[in-house]
Amino acid sequence: MDDRVFQPKTDETAVQVFGPQEVVGLQFDALWICGLQSGRLPQRPQLLPFLPRRLQRELGLLDSDSVALEASAIALLDSLRATHGDVSASYASVQEGLEVLPSPLAHAIAPISPLSEEQVPSHWPGSLSLESLEEGNVPVGGANVQWGGGASVVSNQSNCPFRAWISHRLGPANVATPVFGLTPAERGNIVHDALRFIWETLKDSTSLRGLNEGEIEVLVSGSTERAVQALERREQRRYRNIRKRVGSACLDLEIERVTTLLESWLAVEVHRDGDFHVVEQEDSHELTLGALTLNLRPDRIDRLDDGREIVIDYKTGSVKRSSWLGERPSDAQLPLYALLNDSVEGVAFGRVHQEGVEYVFLGEALGLGGKELALEDQVKRYESEPVASWEALRATWRHRLEGLANDFVRGHAAIDPQPNACRYCALGSVCRYSQNAELPEETLLNLEEGAL
Ligand code: SF4
Repeated sequence: MDDRVFQPKTDETAVQVFGPQEVVGLQFDALWICGLQSGRLPQRPQLLPFLPRRLQRELGLLDSDSVALEASAIALLDSLRATHGDVSASYASVQEGLEVLPSPLAHAIAPISPLSEEQVPSHWPGSLSLESLEEGNVPVGGANVQWGGGASVVSNQSNCPFRAWISHRLGPANVATPVFGLTPAERGNIVHDALRFIWETLKDSTSLRGLNEGEIEVLVSGSTERAVQALERREQRRYRNIRKRVGSACLDLEIERVTTLLESWLAVEVHRDGDFHVVEQEDSHELTLGALTLNLRPDRIDRLDDGREIVIDYKTGSVKRSSWLGERPSDAQLPLYALLNDSVEGVAFGRVHQEGVEYVFLGEALGLGGKELALEDQVKRYESEPVASWEALRATWRHRLEGLANDFVRGHAAIDPQPNACRYCALGSVCRYSQNAELPEETLLNLEEGAL
């Protein structure tokens, strides 16, 4: 090994080529820094994948800390400028067909003249003046702006005002993570559509209870096949071929899986107490909360024999009653649906999952299975004040949700996440909340777990 020459010694010539660190301590009449484009100096931070971010920060590992990387880059440039006579820099303006900007530190070498009109890439928006945020509020422009959206506007505002502002005001496009086979959203759509087709046929509990096992099987498998065909048609309209992407065997397996799942689900429906009619499925409703108008589409509304209605939302993941309650409910969808009309006297998640099928609900004597508790007992673990009646709960929801809607409209965009809000949020690189050095240990651990 001692014989191997790693960097051959060259003769002293008028022009010498060095790496950025190697030139420190040497002295030249003139220095030219090549490749000073953005992303090179300062370098982009690179976390070590097997060490928690918190530990990397505590140990002061340079590559994990964008602030330290920038300080080190500035120190390097300062030292080069102090040591060498004449310092110039250049950068590649196009790389692999993409336009590239100079490093933000390039102004330390020479003032950068603004790009001419011809140099400005066509996809750049026009120049905007910077806005300063006071106490996390973003100026909203005209007072008469009518903001709108779905239930997720209020849910996001409740989970983290900054997330709502980025998602619904700036509206960045989602970059989908590629997966093998069907995505969770596609699987969820198949379940939702199959259930919709089933209830379009059945319409009420009497028809369901009149079917024998074989007839249920035919209905469920036929509806699931229709749901998969509907998904294929939707994808074709976007010029995508889902059968080609995932393969026919994958779709056949999904039909088998969903058919078994929905047969178990219909067993839950059969054993509900009392009769019910499915009066709506995915109909559009408008709900105005303060200055916010929301478009809502409940999965399903059932009418009981006594005229009361239940709003049902199917979920193919985990569900918790606590997500509707408290000052900042993490899932505002069903509380919003409860405000649609005065006949609604119950809300329920229909959990349709291999690990268990069940109704998780709020409301009295709905006949949805499980232990029948008084409303007060259903909510007392999650509410600081007792809630005596359904009317009182709706009034509380209206007050809270209007508050959140008004916060959104007035531009309240503070980075203030609920304890688990960051776990499934894709905006961590925008808010950089987890880099906040003042966060308590417990929060950092939560964030790191969420990132895994
Ligand atoms: S990562 Fe957390 S703090 Fe950042 S926007 Fe998302 S929820 Fe808010």
